[in-house]
Amino acid sequence: MKCPICGKENKYPQDGTCKKCYEKRLERRKKAEEWILYYPQRKQSNIEALAEFEALGAANSDGMPRGTDTSDPTSNKATRLAELQNDRLWCVAVEDMLRNVKDEIILFVELRQEAELLEGGEVGRPAWYDYVEAKYSMQSEKRLGRYYLPGRDTMFRWLSDCKNSLLEIASDYKIV
Ligand SMILES: [Zn+2]
Repeated sequence: MKCPICGKENKYPQDGTCKKCYEKRLERRKKAEEWILYYPQRKQSNIEALAEFEALGAANSDGMPRGTDTSDPTSNKATRLAELQNDRLWCVAVEDMLRNVKDEIILFVELRQEAELLEGGEVGRPAWYDYVEAKYSMQSEKRLGRYYLPGRDTMFRWLSDCKNSLLEIASDYKIV
């Protein structure tokens, strides 16, 4: 049997794909989940880091002598800038993803992000459900105009759908 992704002979099929492609896919999904869950904090630190980077760039191009510090050569700066721009694209991708989902899902994502902070930031822990469920039932009338409480399966599916959609967008932006 051949892996449908890489085409290599597949001795230990997982999910139809070979072990390598399977693990790569899991890694991508984990990355997408982290970007969804930590989006507010990452967005904020990305804005600050880019502003700082620009300020430094302006300070260095004003014709003043640079001093003797050579710990930050041009190549390091370029790498750092590329990282920041890459993170910025991830933020844009999350925003694009959220723009295309229903209000029910936006409320879910916001509460899911909150839950992650309270739990100490470990992706994949199931304890978030109780927190999100309690908050969702309290906020749905105000936010959605009706009382609504999605079930556990629905919430898991929403998160999974968000990850799929984010990865598609990220792929368009060539960041995965
Ligand atoms: Zn493969």
